[in-house]
Amino acid sequence: MTITRTSHPTLPLADRAASLVGSVIDSSTSLLAGQTHDIVRLAMGSPAREAIPAAALAEVAPAAIGAGSADAFDYAATEGDPALREALLAMLEGTSDATTADRLTITAGGMQGLDLANKLFVDPGDLVAVESPTYTNGSATALSYQARLLEVPVDHEGMVVEQLRALGEARGRPKVIYTIPTFQNPSGATMSRARREALLELAREWGSVVVDDDPYRMLGFADEEVPSLHELADGDPLVFSVRTFSKIIAPGLRVGWVDTDPSLQPLLINAKQAMDTCTNLPMQRLVAAFLQAGHLQEHVAVQRQEYRRRKEAMQQALAEHLSDVARWTDPEGGFFLWVTLEGGGADGGPPDTEALFPVALAEGVAYIPGNAFSAEGRFPDALRLCFASTPPDRIHEGVRRLRVALDRMGTG
Ligand code: PMP
Repeated sequence: MTITRTSHPTLPLADRAASLVGSVIDSSTSLLAGQTHDIVRLAMGSPAREAIPAAALAEVAPAAIGAGSADAFDYAATEGDPALREALLAMLEGTSDATTADRLTITAGGMQGLDLANKLFVDPGDLVAVESPTYTNGSATALSYQARLLEVPVDHEGMVVEQLRALGEARGRPKVIYTIPTFQNPSGATMSRARREALLELAREWGSVVVDDDPYRMLGFADEEVPSLHELADGDPLVFSVRTFSKIIAPGLRVGWVDTDPSLQPLLINAKQAMDTCTNLPMQRLVAAFLQAGHLQEHVAVQRQEYRRRKEAMQQALAEHLSDVARWTDPEGGFFLWVTLEGGGADGGPPDTEALFPVALAEGVAYIPGNAFSAEGRFPDALRLCFASTPPDRIHEGVRRLRVALDRMGTG
């Protein structure tokens, strides 16, 4: 991946400005907004437009924010609006993320949770272990605090903890271990319970913090679920959990939360006060009202079924169009699967998926190239597809177009 390093000819930028790397994923939103032809959008990891509960949100909005009271437009408490904190605690009760009020801070989405975690733990030059591939914006947050990244391979059971140990022994113990344990972005892999336990054990041994970024865990296709790292840690302060409403309600809300040991709360509050004072109060009230009205459970149940249907459609389409040139993962939830090309390029090998991208876009399909998910550029032959935001017939069409693009590359 080409990382854009910033510099300025005349202004005295901070050293850290050179560590601000752009997000290929986020930039795809503006890139695609500028296209006028028909494109099947398998790039961005957003919930399906039709899955966003816009009508239910509009229904609760007047009481939540629009009843003529100025109250919802004031500053909020930094730790979060009491109504949302209470509704969130009730939502989490009985789940693997069950928690208590003294552990919760409401944030501006998952991204702010990741920023807070890195701000609290990462000094310039510190090692942060990340999955390889990983969610770029998460590793970019670590880089923005001038971390050095340790890329740890992922297989069908998630981060390979034995390789993390070997890397840590060879290159130094990471201060932070960043993981997306469930339906990982981008691979779709879920870390097994045994791996989660091994990871916690290693983090304890090393004195590392585990940043547990688990935004998709409620979106599994089956009922059985692997316990969260939060639950398995059983109150050990080493786990810093980052969660968001972006995938289960809507990303434009920009509302999420972090769940941390209460001993961190004063520092978290200080960090957030120096950042944005408090999370957008009207949106906190809106989410609280949505939860209080009991909409979430049914909404998530419908989404899970629909996303499963879409994932199956994508598996079928891939089998139909790409089985001779690629292999791919079969996630049990979430939004994404990961395709590795094995052939189809001009020399018979796999084409570079960054070079393939403009050809695919011209054919009317968008994805995210694999190298967007590795600062070291380890995945030139891979790509991430989001199945969640596109209906099955369009998924078929998108994968068909991908094949056409590949054939065009292969024949030069
Ligand atoms: N972590 C992961 C793994 C994600 O996939 C995302 C969203 N793509 C986020 C964090 C960020 O969540 P939010 O949009 O709530 O900031």
